[in-house]
Amino acid sequence: MQVEEGLQLTGNPFVDTGIAVVGVLRGYTEYSKLSQLSISDCQVVHGDGSGLALTNERLKSITMWFTTNLVLKNPAIKSRSQRRKAYAHIVTALLDEVGRETFPRRCEACGNSRSLDLTALYNRALEIPHERQVEHNIGREWFPLAGSLGSDAQALPSASRGIHLCAKCLFFVQYAPLASIIYRGRLAVFQSTSNEFWYSLVTSIVKELHSKATGASGSIEIPGKGGVALERHLWDLFAQMKDTRLPEHLEVFVWMFTNSGTSPECQLIEIPNFYLRFLYELGRRGLANDALRLGRRFLACAERRQDYSGLYPWKGKTHVSPKLYTLYQSVVMGCSTRSLAIAYELAKKANELLPKKTVDQLKRRGGLRDPISHGRLRPIILQMAGKGQLTLQDYLSLFPRNAPTKIDLPSAHGWNIINYYMNHPEPEADPSRALEGSLDGGATEDASELEAYASAIYIDYVNSFGRERFAKILESHQITPEWLRRRWIDLARKQAGFDYYEWRRIATEGEKPGVWVTLFELELLWARFLHDEKDGEKEKTGFSRTDFVLLESKTHETELSERSGLVEPFRSLFIRTLMSLLERVGIERFGRLVDKMVRGEIGLSWFRSQVFSACRDIADAEDVWESSLSDAWGRLVIRERLFQMQLYLANFYRVSKVVYVSEN
Ligand SMILES: [Zn+2]
Repeated sequence: MQVEEGLQLTGNPFVDTGIAVVGVLRGYTEYSKLSQLSISDCQVVHGDGSGLALTNERLKSITMWFTTNLVLKNPAIKSRSQRRKAYAHIVTALLDEVGRETFPRRCEACGNSRSLDLTALYNRALEIPHERQVEHNIGREWFPLAGSLGSDAQALPSASRGIHLCAKCLFFVQYAPLASIIYRGRLAVFQSTSNEFWYSLVTSIVKELHSKATGASGSIEIPGKGGVALERHLWDLFAQMKDTRLPEHLEVFVWMFTNSGTSPECQLIEIPNFYLRFLYELGRRGLANDALRLGRRFLACAERRQDYSGLYPWKGKTHVSPKLYTLYQSVVMGCSTRSLAIAYELAKKANELLPKKTVDQLKRRGGLRDPISHGRLRPIILQMAGKGQLTLQDYLSLFPRNAPTKIDLPSAHGWNIINYYMNHPEPEADPSRALEGSLDGGATEDASELEAYASAIYIDYVNSFGRERFAKILESHQITPEWLRRRWIDLARKQAGFDYYEWRRIATEGEKPGVWVTLFELELLWARFLHDEKDGEKEKTGFSRTDFVLLESKTHETELSERSGLVEPFRSLFIRTLMSLLERVGIERFGRLVDKMVRGEIGLSWFRSQVFSACRDIADAEDVWESSLSDAWGRLVIRERLFQMQLYLANFYRVSKVVYVSEN
């Protein structure tokens, strides 16, 4: 032994785990002390090696760590005590050899400039007479996943030669099994972004194994039963942390491996920060046992950020407390406290306002999965918006159009949350109470664009027909996709931003019933506008300058034809038709035609006759017209095409009028 300074961690998870175990056994309670761990400390812990030999022999996991060729299990040595003695001698010799290695090759685990001559060490440690000496290579029986030359097809690092390791790495790895657990059916050791946290975790596992080893004789079971060993240890640690916050950006890495059998392998997985936070919050709020009762499947869902079906009612009961439910939705699913509160309020209102029979139906498991059930709640949502209790932002936080990318949040999720709270309308379930302080991490969506469209349509309509009429059509559910199309055409002749391209983007992008989704969001905004005006907050819904800029920037007039949704060759034909019509009738009569169109007095046959009269000299005009009425797959799209022509006509008029005015 030549080195008498603190030992450095190596970066190899097996070796470092062993170093930490020796640190724990030496009585170092904190990671900061570990750097003081010296070879003399190791000698104190290790003694003559008989303690380690006895413990490792009893460990059930030992052959998983070091295969059945391990000296401790080697059938060539008949008596168990002889095997233990041989093992202890070799491991003690390893410790004595630290810093005295002779082989001039780098250690492939820690980078030490020399590595160990295992044959010489064997012969010396076991005092083997010259005539019985054989060659010993470092194999999987000495270091996990290290292949030996010749016999082992999975030899690492490259199967062309034995691995080179130094005495220090080989010594410490013998202690690593004392800090491993079974995780997802395999052995696991840990690393972390926080060394302090990692050392505490190792300490916790060593202590558990140690108490098992001293508690009874016979083999020692390794922690891992039920697949929640890691979670249990983490809860222990969190409990010890008491009021200290979880280290920021904390992550834990699990090295899962198998070293026994014919297919040794290793996998590194990451325990993400949100999952650690979830466990931390569970522990802090005394909910760890509730989570354990739900079992491994529940925790696995949480780790994958999936909503867990067991959270929802089953046979008329929910089996999860509002505290646990709300925490899950908040930390795991990323819902904001605000959106949960909205769901809770909605659920309470639904319970109050709907007939009991309907309520019972909706409260069932999956009772809010179909559009009909959503239709029962929508009027309540609108009512809340009309009373100023809910904004579009609130609604979107519960029913996001674009789910945050990190979480796969299906649109049904918001309905499921309401379903849960319909079963838990009690005051204690109120999310702000259940969470005891906000944990907000939920993303809010930018709805300013939709708001700009909503206010443009609102103001235009109210200016033409009055506020009362708008309130009436909103209340009597007369706002349909057809109504919205008509508004779109009407506004297209007055201002930019109402072309077909924007219609597609705003109204129908995404899922098929997109236009209904948009329509409902618009209704929410309008209900809110009406409410705010009633309260004398008119300026809030006033069509602001920024809205104009936003809509104005949508349309670059040069792209008008490209944004029309019409495709060649029909597009050219149609442009030609509009230009010839304008030339023939002049801008004023053209304007009156647009008025007629807005009133719904101009249909497909009018467009058809205009195209044919303007393009009389084009031989295949009729064919082009006919094929324009189908899409690329040959499906008839007459209504959509008519809408495109109407919108183009209205936009064409608006742009031409500007040119006409500036020229005259
Ligand atoms: Zn090494």
